[in-house]
Amino acid sequence: MFDVVILGGGSGGYACALRSAQLGLKVALIERDKLGGTCLHRGCIPTKALLHAAEVADTAREGSHIGVNSSLQSIDLPKVNEYRDGVVGRLYKGLQGLVKSKDITYIEGSGRVVAPNAVEVNGQRIEGRNLVLATGSYSRSLPGLEIGGRVIASEQALQLDWIPNKVIVLGGGVIGVEFASVWKSFGADVTVIEALPRLVPAEDEAVSKTLERAFRKRGIAFSTGVRFASATQDATSVTATLENGTSYTADLMLVAVGRGANGAGHGFEEIGVTVDRGWVPTDERLRTNVPNVYAVGDLVPGLQLAHRGFQHGIFVAEEIAGLNPRMIEDRAIPKVTYCEPEIASVGYSEAQAKEKYGADNIATYEYNLGGNGKSQILGTAGFIKLVREKGGPVVGVHMIGARVGEQIGEAQLIFNWEAAPEDVAPLIHAHPTQNEALGEAHLALAGKPLHAHA
Ligand SMILES: Cc1cc2nc3c(=O)[nH]c(=O)nc-3n(C[C@H](O)[C@H](O)[C@H](O)COP(=O)(O)OP(=O)(O)OC[C@H]3O[C@@H](n4cnc5c(N)ncnc54)[C@H](O)[C@@H]3O)c2cc1C
Repeated sequence: MFDVVILGGGSGGYACALRSAQLGLKVALIERDKLGGTCLHRGCIPTKALLHAAEVADTAREGSHIGVNSSLQSIDLPKVNEYRDGVVGRLYKGLQGLVKSKDITYIEGSGRVVAPNAVEVNGQRIEGRNLVLATGSYSRSLPGLEIGGRVIASEQALQLDWIPNKVIVLGGGVIGVEFASVWKSFGADVTVIEALPRLVPAEDEAVSKTLERAFRKRGIAFSTGVRFASATQDATSVTATLENGTSYTADLMLVAVGRGANGAGHGFEEIGVTVDRGWVPTDERLRTNVPNVYAVGDLVPGLQLAHRGFQHGIFVAEEIAGLNPRMIEDRAIPKVTYCEPEIASVGYSEAQAKEKYGADNIATYEYNLGGNGKSQILGTAGFIKLVREKGGPVVGVHMIGARVGEQIGEAQLIFNWEAAPEDVAPLIHAHPTQNEALGEAHLALAGKPLHAHA
């Protein structure tokens, strides 16, 4: 009998296994595919490797602007893929070694929950005092739109060994704008179709506006506010038609309209666990409605991010060990979108803060990266926007500009420690860094701007 049996070895599942083992719990981890799950093999890591290659391509293309005479000869995509696979492979090996080095029983196979305390895998019954459901998510499509041929999801996009001349990206959320950014840097003609009125609709409106401006400048076309109606394809092309009759034709169409939860077909409902269209709802301590059965990661409604999965996994291990851990709510989880320019945020957007605190009770400040030395050196436009409760803490940080993802660490500490701009203002930010812009924004909102007019 194990203390913890975990179904799914992605970010949520393996983090739970590692922390459980660390706490001396007897743990079994069941994975049907590859340890590391979506993030390592089909998500965060391979896409960010492509985005890095895209950045190198842009740097080569634009070198002469700063007197470094370089040009982009070509993109050898099989070689780029080899580099990407090398990164994934090394991390995979490291993770396998880590799991092996702990006292974790790792079982390869497709598991099925057969009782609130048992999973069947490879014809064997694995029993545990606690079950952790960590089966993750999958690429969703729209009703009537099948993935196949020239209509692809992110999994197929990562398998490509050629660069489309023209590509349609259906969905202007995180995954959509990241692929749009990569393909544009690799030389493709890209059109993004987003049904909502703006790109990255989950971000603060000012961020969307700046991204749209930057995409226009980069020559990435997009349509917002009109819904996709249908797609047809033949041997040479795919055509997407919108509800207003506009149509776009390309070599490929990437469907990036979100991810569904993988809660069906694993026996969850049969043992009484509530499953809602694939999602497994939990209470704030990640308990499902069945005692001693927990759910973590993308399977649980909310933000679908690897670091949320890690946090969930660690939390459940500590909860089972009786450590009474602290839960971090989704609002406090940092988010980064790695397109060019990058986007990073934590907390409430201005609109959300107005709704929560009242329009008269919040103050905002936007520090333009134009005033930041390092950003000028990099040649990036963008801003850092702060939202605060008047007389109180910073409740939202929103950033856009090259490399701003690296600034999210401090931003999430400020949010989570409920720091007021006046608390941050006296702290020192090294010069010249982009991090300084975060310091400047707090100085300005605390009423003592340095390199700013407001
Ligand atoms: C293209 C893309 C880019 C992304 N980029 C980022 C990013 O930059 N940053 C970020 O934070 N997040 C990113 N994500 C999201 C991130 O990948 C997910 O949030 C994360 O992987 C969720 O972890 P998880 O453990 O919940 O699920 P998963 O990683 O999906 O793992 C679930 C695992 O369960 C296994 N499994 C399922 N059913 C069974 C069964 N019956 N028996 C045994 N095993 C089973 C699966 O094989 C899988 O390995 C990205 C996702 C995609 C698709």
